[in-house]
Amino acid sequence: MAAETLAAAGARVDLYDAMPSVGRKFLLAGRGGLNLTHGEPLPAFLSRYREHAPWVESWLADFGPQALRDWAQGLGVDTFVGTSGRVFPAAMKAAPLLRAWLHRLREQGVRIHARHRWTGWDESGRLRFSAPAGETRVEADAVILALGGGSWSRLGSDGAWAPMLAEKGVDVAPLRPANCGF
Ligand SMILES: Cc1cc2nc3c(=O)[nH]c(=O)nc-3n(C[C@H](O)[C@H](O)[C@H](O)COP(=O)(O)OP(=O)(O)OC[C@H]3O[C@@H](n4cnc5c(N)ncnc54)[C@H](O)[C@@H]3O)c2cc1C
Repeated sequence: MAAETLAAAGARVDLYDAMPSVGRKFLLAGRGGLNLTHGEPLPAFLSRYREHAPWVESWLADFGPQALRDWAQGLGVDTFVGTSGRVFPAAMKAAPLLRAWLHRLREQGVRIHARHRWTGWDESGRLRFSAPAGETRVEADAVILALGGGSWSRLGSDGAWAPMLAEKGVDVAPLRPANCGF
């Protein structure tokens, strides 16, 4: 999403991922039916965020449940509201969506570098990557870290970034489950 937004605004974007391909967790999420969002009216949807609703509200004003459905539609993927109110792609799966998304990113000029594990910064502030050809260093005007949480590490996100950032003096909240409630 960040790569897409930046490329659309004219930035030159390089996207690095440690795994041999991107979006592996996204693909697995789609195996049992990719639940994209919920079809309930916005006030009810917002109330699900409870005490965080006031600050989540501005994000949802920019990109809410309907905007997400429109975004999928823009990639040629129709969505539907299930009997539970949850919203799914018509085909239930994530693969067609990911395929179309990656195609559009490449057309926008986003360069995808798989098998590039970010391992920190060198003494000049360049990013360090461990890649098949050995260690590479990259200088960038701006960097977005979108490294995922700590669960399902076999899909790529292992939370190893947390101590790396803490070592640099960044205040990092301990990772904890965020998608369950009773
Ligand atoms: C079984 C399952 C079912 C799910 N079902 C749903 C669902 O129906 N609906 C829903 O909305 N969500 C679902 N989720 C949750 C959803 O998949 C995650 O919330 C989402 O993938 C998180 O996206 P992310 O970009 O934050 O992290 P990730 O998808 O984990 O992406 C992080 C990326 O960073 C890369 N990376 C990590 N460290 C490095 C490094 N040092 N160098 C380079 N690259 C690195 C990883 O390889 C990975 O590709 C499900 C998850 C699982 C496991």
